[in-house]
Amino acid sequence: MTSTEEGNTDTNQWTAKERRVHEYWMREAIKEARKAEKLREVPIGAVVVYQNQIVGRGHNLRETSHNATTHAEMLAIQEANHTLDNWRLADCDLYVTLEPCPMCSGAMILSRIRHVYFGAYDQKGGTAGTLMNLLTDSRFNHQVEVTGGVLLDDTKALLQNFFKQLRAEKKAMKKAKRAIENEDKG
Ligand SMILES: [Zn+2]
Repeated sequence: MTSTEEGNTDTNQWTAKERRVHEYWMREAIKEARKAEKLREVPIGAVVVYQNQIVGRGHNLRETSHNATTHAEMLAIQEANHTLDNWRLADCDLYVTLEPCPMCSGAMILSRIRHVYFGAYDQKGGTAGTLMNLLTDSRFNHQVEVTGGVLLDDTKALLQNFFKQLRAEKKAMKKAKRAIENEDKG
């Protein structure tokens, strides 16, 4: 398990009420991830919360949009900017099902997000504590507080199930292809 020097990734220190609130918003992010899944996109979802209201939602649309920058967090931030008529998302918190990448971490710093809560850790691309922590680096002019592992089992399962299904489909496809080839031979 990854942790940062700041020590604020520890969801175990939450009160029951805090847990209820944060898990509620993470479930909203999971709902967004499910929308991506329906489009056969890698299921990642995000919401931006301001004063107990969702002001931005987003889910990964990389395949649908043919655009490498259409990550869930980017879309949620853009919508929040639009909703609040402000590039500055002070006092806004962002919930995302997977640890943010460098691009999204950058967007969070630029938009002055207050706190990011993420679910699963990303061993290959996470820059909110796994590979590095861009969000709390004091050399930037803004730091974003980070809490990882919110609804960890659910957010992990979301991705694991998706890739498992993908592998099964690929395998079935190969099998079907082989069957057709053998038929041709016969
Ligand atoms: Zn990203």
